[in-house]
Amino acid sequence: MVIILKAKTTQAEVIKLTTELEAKGVIVSPVIGTELMILGLVGDTSRIDPLQIEANNIVEKVMHVQEPFKKANRLFHPENTIVDVCGQKIGGKKIAIIAGPCSVESEDQITLIANEVKKLGAGFLRGGAFKPRTSPYSFQGLEHDGLELLKKARAKSGLPIVTEIMSPYDVELFAKDVDIIQVGARNMQNFDLLKELGKINKPILLKRGLSATIEELLMSAEYIMAGGNENVILCERGIRTFETYTRNTLDLSAIPAIKKLSHLPVVVDPSHATGKRFMIDPLSKAAIAVGADGLIIEVHNDPEKALCDGPQSIKPDQFGKLFKDLKAIAEAVGREM
Ligand code: PEP
Ligand code: MN
Repeated sequence: MVIILKAKTTQAEVIKLTTELEAKGVIVSPVIGTELMILGLVGDTSRIDPLQIEANNIVEKVMHVQEPFKKANRLFHPENTIVDVCGQKIGGKKIAIIAGPCSVESEDQITLIANEVKKLGAGFLRGGAFKPRTSPYSFQGLEHDGLELLKKARAKSGLPIVTEIMSPYDVELFAKDVDIIQVGARNMQNFDLLKELGKINKPILLKRGLSATIEELLMSAEYIMAGGNENVILCERGIRTFETYTRNTLDLSAIPAIKKLSHLPVVVDPSHATGKRFMIDPLSKAAIAVGADGLIIEVHNDPEKALCDGPQSIKPDQFGKLFKDLKAIAEAVGREM
């Protein structure tokens, strides 16, 4: 962190600020020029609030020279993090494929899809039980009953289950019943929820917020990791732009950017990114080509009758074909399926 001081700051004022900063555990190196005075801060600046320093009358500007996230930062953890989910690894050589319906609708529906996607190559089953819907009149999910049905589908298919948590009060229940706890885009900055998830050690699939920057996503991961849970998997699921043709705009450039900035695995959700079935195939391929560690794809046996997100859901046969096609792309980028 670099602090630029206002011209005409007195030596006594510089000493006073330096002492205050040193009390926060950093080393302060002053550079005193004739026009400009600069204080360079070295050490762990993560607990120093730049706005608090900027509020000081003698301070002109505060500049970051390092990212504000530490535990999620590749700088301090150069090797890739590999998250273990019931013995399966996410973030290693193997591409993780999470597939399943947007929502759990019935026992028949979820077990049928679970068995189908398992047979076709998926490693994990997704399905929403608690749904974050824009309208309170839309289907809200089967909630606790949905969770029970997911557990039954897991027992029948052998696939670990991925499902979204909405409330910090459900963390204990999810930690017991769910294999990967999903934090949806709308809750990426629900800091109370993130703090609770930091206290457990279940893998967390953290989705990028609708209008969140990459740094904000990594700061949300930092919340979970700061609490002690380092099993975080990031998810790019499209962001809001001026474009209306697609539901969101899939930010594929976020994948290499996150890979450079962080050691955490990152998966891509082409379903919520586009909202359109025909785009799942090309964007899944593109995601693997740019270095994603996995995909989370909505698959439904009868998309026309799906209670949620039918237009973006692909059928099992389309999923099977895509899975086969992805093998060649994975191999071309040194990965495996
Ligand atoms: C979902 O995966 O079911 C979902 C609601 O996604 P998102 O939070 O990315 O909108
Ligand atoms: Mn959905």
